[in-house]
Amino acid sequence: MSEAKIWLSSPHMGGAEQKYVNEAFDTNWIAPLGPNVNGFENDLSTYLNNNPVAALSSGTAALHLALLQCGVGQGDEVICQSFTFSASANPITYLGATPVFVDSEDVTWNISPKYLEEAITDRIAKGKKPKAIVAVHLYGMPYLVDEIHAIANKYEIPVVEDSAEALGSTYKGRNCGTFGTYGVLSFNGNKIITTSGGGALVCPSEEAKKNTVFLATQARDDAPHYQHSNIGYNYRLSNISAGIGRGQMEVLDKHINLRRQMNSFYQELFEKYDGITVFTEPNEDFYSNHWLSAILVDPEKTNGVTREDIRLAFAKANIESRPLWKPMHMQPIFENCAFYGENVAFRLFKNGLCVPSGSNLISKDRQRIEKVIFDLLSR
Ligand SMILES: *Cc1c(COP(=O)(O)O)cnc(C)c1O
Repeated sequence: MSEAKIWLSSPHMGGAEQKYVNEAFDTNWIAPLGPNVNGFENDLSTYLNNNPVAALSSGTAALHLALLQCGVGQGDEVICQSFTFSASANPITYLGATPVFVDSEDVTWNISPKYLEEAITDRIAKGKKPKAIVAVHLYGMPYLVDEIHAIANKYEIPVVEDSAEALGSTYKGRNCGTFGTYGVLSFNGNKIITTSGGGALVCPSEEAKKNTVFLATQARDDAPHYQHSNIGYNYRLSNISAGIGRGQMEVLDKHINLRRQMNSFYQELFEKYDGITVFTEPNEDFYSNHWLSAILVDPEKTNGVTREDIRLAFAKANIESRPLWKPMHMQPIFENCAFYGENVAFRLFKNGLCVPSGSNLISKDRQRIEKVIFDLLSR
């Protein structure tokens, strides 16, 4: 009699997606170009303050092409927030460069200004100025935008803004994805909007967008035959996927409101229990899409109940939850990379849990979540 699984974050269609996909079939635009690709790019661009946007096959591909266009190459170093998903760091290695990891601050959980500057000055002293900075708005929470960009400007290092989790989030009223030299978006299956798989690069100019599309379509020179002066990639978004994206854009703001309601639900729920705090905005400058809601557990104040106890209790009730990202500098694959910081990211990983956050959760789901917490904590 087990009940249906409650997912952390599952796709939530708005209704118009199939109309756009059917249009693609009806007009035979079954290709990585077509009216949906252009339409989706226009929708994203309009949403993001008219910045040029190139639709790509994934957020990872967008990061790769952003770093490439920042001039990252063999033997270079790139600074990267350690507390993130591996896709923020992997593309650095695709280019033959090495990540240098930086710890988080404990307000937004994102890259620490203090350790960012320490990393930059130390790498310069060691003879290598970092070629780029990958800063991430984790779980939809904007990083300390003013502080981070002041440092990046001071040392004239471009920022690749990993906004894969933060479409619709804003800082001081301005959209995440528009602060960096390049901004990265993802439409993977579990993100705030999905195209089943896909991504986009927010570009600094029309020319940079043109170059991004050029690189993403095998870098063909302007000639009747296939002529190549550059290494290209096959990174363009399919016209079918883009059709799903156009439908999703129609419900983005509505779905953000629903995710934010989930966050409010958790704030109210955990207010009743000592030792558990819900991750939320520090002040009005920050507006998070609350892609995922997350909690921090202090076992000294919960009578010994740990984040793992909560995760297992949820699992038993067929409810998905997940520890926060394991920091990159602690991953086996990156263990030899430099790290600047202390143990903020590690502590978040150790005590933090992402809880079901989907825009499609209903009140019956919330009651099930509430009951698990009640049974575990009100003893
Ligand atoms: C999802 C994600 C990516 C990668 O996006 P894909 O579309 O899955 O390739 C990059 N960075 C972060 C922080 C992400 O959450």
